[in-house]
Amino acid sequence: MNNTVEASGSCLCGKVKVVAAAMATESGCCHCGSCRKWGGGPMMTVECNTEVSFEGEELIRVYASSDWAERGFCANCGSHLFYRLKPTGQYYMPVGLFDGDNPRQFTHQVFIDEKPDYYDFANRTHNLTGEQIFAQFAEQQQGEN
Ligand SMILES: [Zn+2]
Ligand SMILES: [Zn+2]
Repeated sequence: MNNTVEASGSCLCGKVKVVAAAMATESGCCHCGSCRKWGGGPMMTVECNTEVSFEGEELIRVYASSDWAERGFCANCGSHLFYRLKPTGQYYMPVGLFDGDNPRQFTHQVFIDEKPDYYDFANRTHNLTGEQIFAQFAEQQQGEN
C-alpha cells in the first residue's frame, strides 16, 4: 500500500462508527460471485490495513464467507462494514461508509474474470483475475514467513 490517510465513517443507522488509521487513497472493486451476492452488485472497497477501530461493536455481526475471509455488517441497519482476511486481519472496507472525500481514486478491479457482461466501468484501472489475486496473496504470505 502506498499513500494512506486517516478516515472515519459510519453505517447507515449511525450506530456503528469506524475509524481507519491508515486507509489507502486508492480504492478498488471486486466482481466475484460472493461479493455480488452479498451486496447485490460489485463491491467497491478500500484497503485499510489492520488498524481499524469500531464504536458500537455489539451490533457487528460477522459471517465467515470462505476459509480465508469473513464479512461484517451492522445488525441494526444491515450496512456492510468490512471484508476481513482471516490470516492477516487485514480490512477491506466499503467505500460508502466513509465521510468526506475519501477515498480519492478508483484504481483497480479484481476478479475481473467473474464480472458479468451487463456492466463495465469506464475508469482506466489495473485489472486482475481471480487466479492472479490468489498468486499475489500466496507470494505475500511467503514474504511474511
Ligand atoms: Zn447500522
Ligand atoms: Zn469479491
